[in-house]
Amino acid sequence: MTDAARRAQPAPEVPFLDWAEVNAPHAAALSSAAERVVAGGRYVLGPELAMFEKSFATLCGRRHCAGTASGLDALALILRAAVDCGRIPAGSEVLLPANTYIASALAVLHAGLSLALTDPDEASFNLTAEIAERSIGKKTGAVMAVQLYGRAQDMAAMEKLCRDRGVFLISDSAQAHGAHSGGRPAAAYGDAAAFSFYPGKNLGALGDGGAALTDDEDLDARIRMLRNYGSARKYEHEIVGFNSRLDEMQAAMLSAKLPALKRENDRRRAVAERYLSEIKNPKVTLPSAPAEPFAHAWHLFVARATNRDALQAHLHNRGIGTLIHYPRPLHKHAAFADREFAASSFPLSEKLASEVLSLPLNPALRDSQADAVIDAVNAF
Ligand SMILES: *Cc1c(COP(=O)(O)O)cnc(C)c1O
Repeated sequence: MTDAARRAQPAPEVPFLDWAEVNAPHAAALSSAAERVVAGGRYVLGPELAMFEKSFATLCGRRHCAGTASGLDALALILRAAVDCGRIPAGSEVLLPANTYIASALAVLHAGLSLALTDPDEASFNLTAEIAERSIGKKTGAVMAVQLYGRAQDMAAMEKLCRDRGVFLISDSAQAHGAHSGGRPAAAYGDAAAFSFYPGKNLGALGDGGAALTDDEDLDARIRMLRNYGSARKYEHEIVGFNSRLDEMQAAMLSAKLPALKRENDRRRAVAERYLSEIKNPKVTLPSAPAEPFAHAWHLFVARATNRDALQAHLHNRGIGTLIHYPRPLHKHAAFADREFAASSFPLSEKLASEVLSLPLNPALRDSQADAVIDAVNAF
């Protein structure tokens, strides 16, 4: 369509994300998977979970994958297992960026460890190896490389740093299904990686779910025990565990959607590349393009504006939904008010919290909707 013809059409509404629209192309596969589970009569720790764990491990370039009830649990169980297996000193600190989602931090505390926060790299919004190198101290037991917004940092550099310093490396890959680093899955680096299958993620279940991945057999066995009442064999409880399993129904939903992940990420990338080349407004700062195309899973397209709230209102008035990821940096949450770091300042994370705005980006977004987003941002 020519620009003139396109502007003659009424601009479509653009919801930020409509879960039903994202799942609509999968409806037939989801329904037949659900019927299979209902008829199969195994609803927890059965063949659907085993099958999904195997294919997701392959996708991530990992030997082991353990499904969990959520992404938060996957992170917490990995850290707990690493402490139990002597891989992280009990009571040590986990380094993570102050601009991440709160679940990254909650997992650290649930595992009995302490938080050490740092500002991220401004160009990538991420904790990079350079920043980690400056921030690792005597008390650091682990580094949590969050692939925030779906963007992978240089994980080979991060892995080398952590190995040299004898520090455990965990990825919070909850937003980065399918992201690569140096030509390999980003989740394949370091000691372990955690994913979330919350419905809004790039690979979303129809409820909660998560996964813990590692190549380390002992760590995997410990995670499996922790997720199942501390038990490896029925009615034998060796440790004080939890109930945190990815159920058969959700595993079946995920297996039905997994084959489309790459195609859906490609669609996200195509829209993101259009935003990057066609949004031109000096009042709006776009995210930087990743060094390699597959280094970004484009879970979120996060722009910045000093008058962010006005931009959000302008887009809202034109029927375009946006969200803020996240309006508050970690150290400003009431839940952490009594922690030492609550009094610290992380100026970049604070600035980002007041400037970031996520534009609609999902596999269901139509070209006409992307046009509407581009036109509306340019008209601000
Ligand atoms: C979604 C998310 C989590 C938590 O996953 P849940 O499945 O919602 O518990 C953790 N970290 C990040 C960065 C996330 O985006």
